[in-house]
Amino acid sequence: MNKRIFLPILLVMLFVLLFYALTSSEVLYSQNEGDASEDLRKSMQTYKDNYSATDISAAELSSYLDVEVCYLDGDFNVMDVSSERYRVTDKELSTLKNTLTNGTRIYISDSTEKGRSYVNICEKFGDKTVRLSLEIFSRAKVYLSMLPALIIYVCIGVLLSLILSWIVTSFVIRHVKELAINAIGNDKHINAKFVELKPIADVINLKNEHVRNAQKSKDEFISNVTHEMNTPLTSIHGFAELIASGDLPASKIKAAGKTIEAQSERLSAMIKQILNYSAIDDDMLTPYDVDLSKLTNEVLDNFEPVLKDKNITLVRDIQDGVHIMSRHERVTEILDNLVSNAIKYNKQNGKITVTVKDALLVVDDTGIGISQDELKHIFSRFYTVDKSHGENMGFGLGLPIVKKLCDKSGWKLYVDSTLGEGTTFRIDFSQ
Ligand code: ATP
Ligand code: MG
Repeated sequence: MNKRIFLPILLVMLFVLLFYALTSSEVLYSQNEGDASEDLRKSMQTYKDNYSATDISAAELSSYLDVEVCYLDGDFNVMDVSSERYRVTDKELSTLKNTLTNGTRIYISDSTEKGRSYVNICEKFGDKTVRLSLEIFSRAKVYLSMLPALIIYVCIGVLLSLILSWIVTSFVIRHVKELAINAIGNDKHINAKFVELKPIADVINLKNEHVRNAQKSKDEFISNVTHEMNTPLTSIHGFAELIASGDLPASKIKAAGKTIEAQSERLSAMIKQILNYSAIDDDMLTPYDVDLSKLTNEVLDNFEPVLKDKNITLVRDIQDGVHIMSRHERVTEILDNLVSNAIKYNKQNGKITVTVKDALLVVDDTGIGISQDELKHIFSRFYTVDKSHGENMGFGLGLPIVKKLCDKSGWKLYVDSTLGEGTTFRIDFSQ
C-alpha cells in the first residue's frame, strides 16, 4: 500500500471526524443549555403567578415545578433549599447579584460535583430572592461523552482510509501504469480511458512526439553526414587505389595527390563544422561583455585578401562601442558564416555592406540572391541551393549554426533576399 496515498486520506478523515465531534458536542451542549433556560423561565413564571404570595417551602415548590429551588433573604443568606447540592455558594453569589442588577436573570454555575453544571434563573420578590436551577452536563462532560463514539469512528476512519487508498492504488494507479506501459515504445497516439487521465496522456503524447522528431532529425542528420562524406571519400579512395596500383602515369600522380589533398581538406572542414554545430547544444559557458564593433572590424580585416581576389567592395558602417553579452567565439562564428556567404554567393565586382548599430548587425550583399521558395529552407542542416557539389560548394551547415547560436541566446535572425539582386541578413541582439 502506498503510504503517500494512505496518510493524506487518513489525515483528512481524522480531521473531518474531529471537526464533526467538536461541532456536534458544541451543538449538544448549547441545545441542553437552551432547553434548560426555557424550562426555568416557564417555571419562574408559574411561581410568580401561583406561589409568590404564598410561603411554600423550597422542597414543595421543587416537587411541583420539577426544578431545584433556593430562597435567599434580603442579605442573600440562604433561607431554604430543596436539596443541599443546590445551595447558593459564596463563589456564585456575586454572579447572582450581577444577574439580578442587569436583568439577564439566567446564569450558569458549576456544581461542587465534577462534570456537572447548573443553569439558574433568579428573581427578586420583595426582599426574597428565588433561584430556580436545573442540572445540565458541563461542556467537558459532553465532550467526554462523545469520546467512545469518536474512538469507534476513528477506527472506522482508519479502516476506510485503508480501503480507499487500496482503491486508489489498485484502480487509479493501475490505469496510470497501463497508460505509461502503453506509451513506452508506442509510436501511436495513446488515449486515456478516463477523462481525468487525459492530461497525463497528453503529456506522454507530446513527449513521444518530441522523441520521434528528435529521432527523425538524428536519422536525417546521420544520413546527410554519410551522404556528404561519401563524395570526397569516393574520390580519395579512387585516386589512392590508382596510385597504389602503379597504373597511373607519373605525370598524373601530382594532380591525383592534389585532389586527394583537397578532398581530405574538405572532409576535415566538414567534420569541424559538424562538431561546431553539435557543440552549441552543450555550450554552457557564461556570456560576458563583447565589443561587437571591435570584433566585427577584426573579422572583416581577415576577409580583406579574399575580397581583393574577388574584386568585391566592402563597406563598413560600424558604430563604435556597441557591446553585447555573449562570447567571442560565438560572435566570430556568426560573423564568419554570414560574411563568407556574402563573399561566396556574390558576383564579380559586387558589394558587401556590414552595419553595426544599436545592437543590430546587418550583412547585406549584392550577390546572386535566393528565391522565396529556397529561402524557407536555408536554415535547415545540409541545405544548399546549388546541389551540384561543385568546387566551391559548402556543406549547408553555416546558416544552421548561425540560427542555432541566435536561438540559444534569444537573438532574432531575419533574412531578406531577391533572386539575382542580393541578400540581407539581420541579427537583433537586443533581447
Ligand atoms: P557552409 O557554410 O556549411 O560551408 P553553405 O554556405 O552552402 O555551406 P549555408 O551557409 O548554410 O551553407 O547556406 C545555405 C545555402 O543558402 C547556401 O548553400 C546558399 O545556397 C544559400 N545562401 C546562403 N547565404 C547566401 C547569400 N548571402 N546569398 C545567396 N545565397 C546564400
Ligand atoms: Mg555558408
